[in-house]
Amino acid sequence: MRLANFIDGKFVAPRSGAYFEDVNPATAETIAEIPDSDRRDVDDAVRAAKRAFSSWSGLRAEERSRVLLRLADLIEQNLESLARLESEDNGKPVALARRMDIPRAVANFRFFATAILHGSSEAHVTDSVALNYTLRQPVGVAGLISPWNLPLYLLSWKIAPAIAAGNTCVAKPSELTPLTANRLAELSLEAGLPAGVMNIVHGYGAKAGAALCEHPDVPLISFTGGTVTGGKVAAAAAPLFKKLSLELGGKNPNVIFADADLDDAIATSIQSSFANQGEICLCGSRMFVERSIYDTFVARFVEATARLRIGDPTDETTEVGALISAAHLAKVSGYVDLARSEGGTVACGGDRIEHRGFFLQPTVITGLGCDTRVLQEEIFGPVVTITPFEDEAEAIAFANSTRYGLSATVWTRDLQRAHRVAAALDVGTVWVNCWLLRDLRVPFGGVKDSGVGREGGSDSLHFFTEAKNVCVKL
Ligand code: NDP
Repeated sequence: MRLANFIDGKFVAPRSGAYFEDVNPATAETIAEIPDSDRRDVDDAVRAAKRAFSSWSGLRAEERSRVLLRLADLIEQNLESLARLESEDNGKPVALARRMDIPRAVANFRFFATAILHGSSEAHVTDSVALNYTLRQPVGVAGLISPWNLPLYLLSWKIAPAIAAGNTCVAKPSELTPLTANRLAELSLEAGLPAGVMNIVHGYGAKAGAALCEHPDVPLISFTGGTVTGGKVAAAAAPLFKKLSLELGGKNPNVIFADADLDDAIATSIQSSFANQGEICLCGSRMFVERSIYDTFVARFVEATARLRIGDPTDETTEVGALISAAHLAKVSGYVDLARSEGGTVACGGDRIEHRGFFLQPTVITGLGCDTRVLQEEIFGPVVTITPFEDEAEAIAFANSTRYGLSATVWTRDLQRAHRVAAALDVGTVWVNCWLLRDLRVPFGGVKDSGVGREGGSDSLHFFTEAKNVCVKL
């Protein structure tokens, strides 16, 4: 299969005429050729998006909503084939893509398609002198850049609010997982999305992605990806004063107090550690367990980890699939070696699986302190650490000891402690006695090196619009 860019409602070859390979991580086989796009393709896409802006933004919210709802229905009708494409491209179990990735893409479009029908805006009456009201107007061409771990889930998390709010967009999916974005383009035609409203340019981040960030006619960038790349995006966008939302890396703590419901804490922590091969920015990679239950917890957690079924993502019973690439597998397994050299113990897993694809056993490491690189750096794979803590103050200090601040999970039956600890954690999201329970209305984002800005619900709609105050003298 040879992919094309989607510009102005048409599938077009990259200007360079060059392509590179898209590999199935579970088999190491090439499954598609991807356009190696450059600045010229980005220019074409931005021009198309600019042309489409005035008519799309001029539609009534109800008209835009109808198109997006049709697109949501089409994604839902194609759920099975999209789940298979996502699994083939990313290495994740097809069962997970069917349960999580694709339904969430449907939900993203439905949520923002209906949110724009129920918005309100503020008014401020200045004594009896003036009436101020806020107009929220679309910004123009939105530049949207997304990573490979949740390809359609995160791409649609950006496209849906951007175009629902009346913007047009140019999206650059990860070069490693372009297939569902390509299918989304096909479905958008079927849904009747006007040409130029959604443009998709494939290619390398450093080339096509950077050109989008530097483009003078793209006043807004929404980026999800690694912290180092986020820094480059910010550096490119700053001199042009672009609106910027950066959803970056995480090194999330999972804090388990002795009074927790251990059955629930262990079952959910297995998910938060290893779902999607640990390649979710919200995975809880640093577990902190109260000393009095530490030995029991480690024994039970290791036993549950060892039971996970790893292997062929197309097998319905597989729970852990392949890592995204050979390079990523080398990076993640390098951290297992580093853990040993830093004095840690590999309590289970740690080995690659002999296979053409890129598989690593789910891995649990004990015996490391918070100052080690393994507890400081984002690994983004099926590798977690477990460290004991003595009391609440130490748990909070350990949890806050990295430069990241995306999310945290807290397990306790003590309601007051749950609120106290949640307030003390330096993160954007805290889950208490649960994980990844998402409500699309809530603010989502990170603090410290995990990002800038919030998306979700009205935060997304505010980000994708400019607030203009109109002051009328009474
Ligand atoms: P990267 O930062 O490598 O890439 C993210 C996207 O940016 C890709 O589309 C990439 O393209 C593109 N890109 C790369 N270089 C540039 C550049 N100079 N200018 C513009 N765009 C560029 O992240 P990964 O794809 O490796 O994703 C994993 C990371 O994403 C992890 O750190 C993870 O924590 C984070 N993440 C954060 C989430 C959050 O909500 N906070 C959610 C999910 C993931 P290409 O792939 O072609 O290089």
